[in-house]
Amino acid sequence: MEASSLYQTYSRANLSFARGEGVWLETADGRRFLDCAAGIAVNSLGHCHPALVAALEAQAGKLWHVSNVYAIDGQEEFARKLTQATFADRVFCTNSGAEALECAIKTARRYFYAKGEPDRVDIITFEGAFHGRTLATIAAGGQEKYLEGFGPKAPGFVQVPFGDHEALLDAIGETTAGILIEPIQGEGGVRPVPTEYLRELRKLCDDNGILLILDEVQTGVGRTGKLFAHEWAGITPDIMAIAKGIGGGFPLGACLATEEAASGMKPGTHGTTYGGNPLAMAVGNAVLDVVLTEGFLEEVQKKALMLKQKLAGVVDGHPAVFEDIRGKGLMLGLKCRVTNTDLLARFREAGLLAVGAGDNVLRILPPLTITEAEIGEAVSRIEQAATAMESGLERGAAE
Ligand code: PLP
Repeated sequence: MEASSLYQTYSRANLSFARGEGVWLETADGRRFLDCAAGIAVNSLGHCHPALVAALEAQAGKLWHVSNVYAIDGQEEFARKLTQATFADRVFCTNSGAEALECAIKTARRYFYAKGEPDRVDIITFEGAFHGRTLATIAAGGQEKYLEGFGPKAPGFVQVPFGDHEALLDAIGETTAGILIEPIQGEGGVRPVPTEYLRELRKLCDDNGILLILDEVQTGVGRTGKLFAHEWAGITPDIMAIAKGIGGGFPLGACLATEEAASGMKPGTHGTTYGGNPLAMAVGNAVLDVVLTEGFLEEVQKKALMLKQKLAGVVDGHPAVFEDIRGKGLMLGLKCRVTNTDLLARFREAGLLAVGAGDNVLRILPPLTITEAEIGEAVSRIEQAATAMESGLERGAAE
């Protein structure tokens, strides 16, 4: 292969794909893989979903871009659909998750600024969090491996250990603007926040007059079997960042907020060239139409239960390979006893794609459209990979 001219920022697998259909990806030489990574929870409706292809093709022949100087019909429609389906009254469209988080952070700070409390700038986050790779979002995530070498950490983020309530209480003070949390930590290793704790956080924010900001970039748009994961806890945030699944593979994100929380975001306070452009909106609207179809999310819940039960059987059957299964809906994490990247390689040999995460976990994030038969196929390939891994371990021990 010719030497690459790209930035060497990714440790890429030696694998590339020529086409995709549903949950399947195919290489140029015809090898087929069951995609249980879905572009890291992005291809919510699988590859080349006919409704998304049709929406994009139709828009491509009409209008690509006009800028946010003008009204964009698709954007109004997109925001209306989201506000009708959620807690939110206002939507700002972005191109990515990190940009949605940037908007969420700015919205929170600006809310207090407009209220005459400009010193309330601090956002409390949790150890193990991941909120993106911009300078503000690496500071929010607080992980040294992402901060190292990039100069001073952006101020205004206070991190507390995951699940340490006392530390959280201590961290709330006169400069606190809000609490930012993923309902299930994704990159951190599919670590769910218990629903009762999410309720506790809502109450804590209310009692202290600060904002609850949810990062549903990975958990949103049906991934956990509800449109958004916080619905399981019966609470609503003040501000929420979404991306990934909402575009089904087209770059799209959004920041959602209540009227009150968004009240500081006046004309000129924020903007983007591409966010919410007609192409992205055509796809985003088509994704929402499918996900909001009656019965779609119930079907996801049913299939998710089936997948989790079957995978729990595989985990039980291979105690030398797996420690545990966790997560919700179609966002599952297999906590490994072997090195997760070694097992990931075995998965690939068995023709299945998953994705690694922190805490030695492999994430299983199939498209929400996976069928029951494909779930059976995925589980049998994971079983095959676990068996191969186990024989490798036994061989290693015998030598
Ligand atoms: N927040 C969470 C929870 C994520 O999982 C990610 C990406 O993995 C991001 C934010 C950043 O999104 P993006 O890579 O689109 O900027």
